[in-house]
Formats: sequence, C-alpha cells, structure tokens
Amino acid sequence: MDGSAESLRGYLEYLRDLGIYDVYRTSDASDDPALAAWWKSVASPIAASAPANAQRPAASSAPVPQRPAAPIMQRPAPTPTPQRPPLPAGNRAPDIVITPPTAAAPPPLAYDFDQAPAPTGQFAPPAMPLVSFNNLAPLPTERIAPADKAAALQSVRNTIGDCTRCPLAYAGRHHIVFADGDPNAELMFVGEGPGADEDASGIPFVGKAGQLLNNMINAMGLKREQVYIANVVKCRPPQNRTPEPKEANTCSPFLLQQVDIVQPKVIVALGATAATYLLGVKQSLANLRGHWHDVRGAKCAVTYHPAFLLRDPRQKGEAWKDLQRVMVELGLKPPTRG
Ligand code: SF4
Repeated sequence: MDGSAESLRGYLEYLRDLGIYDVYRTSDASDDPALAAWWKSVASPIAASAPANAQRPAASSAPVPQRPAAPIMQRPAPTPTPQRPPLPAGNRAPDIVITPPTAAAPPPLAYDFDQAPAPTGQFAPPAMPLVSFNNLAPLPTERIAPADKAAALQSVRNTIGDCTRCPLAYAGRHHIVFADGDPNAELMFVGEGPGADEDASGIPFVGKAGQLLNNMINAMGLKREQVYIANVVKCRPPQNRTPEPKEANTCSPFLLQQVDIVQPKVIVALGATAATYLLGVKQSLANLRGHWHDVRGAKCAVTYHPAFLLRDPRQKGEAWKDLQRVMVELGLKPPTRG
C-alpha cells in the first residue's frame, strides 16, 4: 500500500469513527476492475471492522401517534350594553338643534381696531385725573429767600436728572428743557412743551415761537432775562404733538416746584394745554381768557400760544389785550418808541 492509499485509509477510518459507512458502497458501483480491486484492498479491512448494525435502520412502519384534537373553545356571547334609563319627562335635556348656515349670512369680517368701541366697565382704563396745581400739593408755608431761589431751582433740576419717568424720555429727546430766566421774576410764562429748536438747544422758546414771545415780552416793557419761562413737560413730544395726560401729569410736579420757588406775582398760561394742567380744568381758551385765575397764590392769565399766533396772526391783537391786563397788574408800561 503506497502513501496515498494509506492516507485515504486513515480518512475513511475517520469517517467510520463518525458513523459514516455508506461511503464503502460506492466502491461496488465502479466499472473499472483495476480501480475496484484497488478499492477492495483499501476498503475491505475497514468494512470488515464496521459494526453489524451499522446499516441505517429502515423507516418504521408503525403508525405515528396522533396528537389529540384540541377541544374547540366557544366564544362567549357578547354582554349586552346597559341602556341609559330614559329621563323623566320633566328632566329631559334639550335637544341639540344644528342650524345650517344660511346663504344670506355675511362672512366674518376682520377686526377693525379703528371701529372698536372704547372698553367699558371693569376693563376700562382708569381716567387720568385732572388736578389743578392748587390741589396737587399744599401751598408752601415759607417763602424762599431771593438769594436761595437759584440754588433751589438747581436742586429741582438735579432731582429730574436724566429723567425716564414718562414715555417722552424714549421719544427721541436730545435735551431736557428745564427753564430759562430770572429765578426772582415777578412774571412767569408757562408753555406746553419743547419743540425741535428747544430740544436741540435745551432752552425753552428759542425758535420762531420763542422769537415772537421775546417780542411780546419786549412789548410789555420787559426783557426776556427779567421773566421766568418753563413748560408743562420738559421733553419734546414727537412731532410736537400735545403731551399725553400721563406725560403731563408725570412731569407737572417739577413745574409746580418751580412755581413755588419762583413765586411770581403773575403767571401767563400760553395756550390751552398749559391752562388745562395749571388750572385743572379743560375748557376752551375763549372761556379761560379775560379772567384771573389763581395758581399757587399767583394771578394767572390765559392767552394764545405764540406758535398759534404764528399760524393765525389775526389773534395777535387779542393776545395783546391779555398782556395789557398783565401789565396793569404788574404796573408795567410799554416802552416808548425812540
Ligand atoms: S417729560 Fe418730564 S417726566 Fe417725562 S421724561 Fe421728561 S422730564 Fe421726565
């Protein structure tokens, strides 16, 4: 037996150890007598050592036991849904009636804020109270010495500081326009609020309206430096609009302190806004002009705002009448023309 036959025999013995015996039969199927003889010499010793029961057992003919049939479970009959007992006739819920939309119904409109009614009842904002300067604070019990008025006014200015107490602080102002003039003046002019020129310079009444006011003061026989000039609000309202009540009421206490410190004999309210907040009344200029009003112990006259006189110069004569009454009160005489 050569080496290859020896290795093949080892392989077959390995298969026999695994219980694989059918491979021996293949040698019987060979048609080559030489190969069959060689195969017989190789495989016979192995086949002879194969166990007698090495044949694959024939398939058993015994009947396969049948799995007992599972009993068929019957689905229980569904439980009937309990029925709500009918309500007594007196407690019956109302029937829901769905009305189909009619063709004539108008489509819903977008909310028109301009046409929205003003809120009323508990949702209405509280009305901004209009309080006269006389009722805003008790009258001062002592007069400030003339020498101390400038310092007292500066103290008020310091209190204002870089004020952000009302919305006008955020409306594009450049300067807080406090006042201009003599702290010991007998005559005080009160305007509405700064305009563009005043906002730029920080000085009240310096634009065209201010120039006209200077002319009015000069016509009374005074110089601008001899009067005291201030406004209800100290910051310019955007587009020179009228100050809102919230703005005017917030800023008014500063003007009140200025009045109490200067303690002029006469106050001239320039225009309706100044008159409204000084006097605490909302009336037409026609009603307020021609009368003396009391503001913090001073006599108050109401006349047109110089800006209005620039727009309607025909009213300058009426304003001059108002100023003449003030001149009489202060004992002023118009300057003689040289
Ligand atoms: S208007 Fe008067 S209250 Fe308002 S921010 Fe100016 S200074 Fe302050």
